[in-house]
Amino acid sequence: MNPDELLRRHRAVMPGWIALYYERPIELVRGEGFKVWDSEGNEYLDFFGGIVTTISGHAVPEIVEVVRSQAERIFHSSTLYLIRNQILLAEKLVELSPISGENKVFFVGSGSEANEAALLFATTYRNSGEVIALRGSYHGGSYGAMSVTGQAPWRATSRSALDVSYAINPHPAYGPLGPEEAAGDVRNLIETATTGHVAAFIAEPIQGVGGFIEPPPGYFRRVKEILDETGILFISDEVQTAFGRTGDHFWGIEAHGVEPDLITMAKGIGNGLAMGAVMGRAEIMDSLSPKLHISTFGGNHLATAGAFANLNFILENGLQHNAREVGGYLKRRLEGIANEHEIVAEVRGRGLMLGVELGDAVAVNRVLELCRERGVLFGKGGLRGSAIRISPPLTVTREAAEEAAGVLESAIAGIGE
Ligand code: PMP
Repeated sequence: MNPDELLRRHRAVMPGWIALYYERPIELVRGEGFKVWDSEGNEYLDFFGGIVTTISGHAVPEIVEVVRSQAERIFHSSTLYLIRNQILLAEKLVELSPISGENKVFFVGSGSEANEAALLFATTYRNSGEVIALRGSYHGGSYGAMSVTGQAPWRATSRSALDVSYAINPHPAYGPLGPEEAAGDVRNLIETATTGHVAAFIAEPIQGVGGFIEPPPGYFRRVKEILDETGILFISDEVQTAFGRTGDHFWGIEAHGVEPDLITMAKGIGNGLAMGAVMGRAEIMDSLSPKLHISTFGGNHLATAGAFANLNFILENGLQHNAREVGGYLKRRLEGIANEHEIVAEVRGRGLMLGVELGDAVAVNRVLELCRERGVLFGKGGLRGSAIRISPPLTVTREAAEEAAGVLESAIAGIGE
């Protein structure tokens, strides 16, 4: 069945609002490392990794073998029984945690659920339903996660599950406020827009869907100081920034010298297997007791076997260091492109989480289309869909990065013609 027929059938049985990339959507049927192939045999460099997810690459033999042998034994038993891989994975995550003291981990099936659980733990622990989030943020498609999402178009409902205030984003793209003044807005919200008893502040170290926007140095540290005055919890949404993606550190928040209270993760944790987790200070994680809570699929055999193999692969192959090296090279290359082409307003991000701002969604769509024709898949994002997002598997080579940058440059030059 060709993609046109598949698209017709997709539209017939699935809601029309589901977004598909490209004028003629493609079906990816196979992958290997940082390359993928579509149903018509076209080969692409995968520079979006299934929305910043395929962190170790496609069909990695070390991970495939573990998943295959697990699948042959048992997929699922539920959290009512002990799951060895879940425990091994949690132990490893706790070992890597940037949060001091005793940590605990709760497994779920996605990023939205991870944020949902973190918000549940934070609001229970603090006995408050008030949360502060950053403008431009994206935290998921479930009710609570949508409520703390600081981009109105992504809040598909106007009804909020929580009492949320959206703090001014300190990135220059949002206005002239510096980190100190923007942190002052958080204080202002605590004092005025809320009852004064706030449960948590939630933020992504680098906003993902928001277009790979990172607050300037000092912002998160200042915010944390303000939160600490009254014990408000800091939730770092690391669904996109964890596991070495940002190159400099294993967790994105570490670049800001801030110790969060809770960390949420998904995407890269399973390298594509549906998986998410919350990790944090034990007393917060334990605060639900004696209330009932469960996730049927959370940390199931198949997902945790694969995630544990994936984490070992990331660590054993030093993928974080490759992200720093290749990402650093790619960023310099992109900055070179920005100097040559006026349409590029900004190059931002770190590691293998790089954004190219064109300031125009139509131009981004045209560039993405041209890049696809020339064999590279990129992502898009940003408040107005005006940024190109680059996030290949962390195994990507400098040569592939150079090839992708060359294609991007030719596409950018192409739309100017
Ligand atoms: N948080 C962040 C930072 C994300 O980027 C996303 C997904 N794009 C989510 C949460 C939600 O994750 P999921 O789609 O797995 O529910």
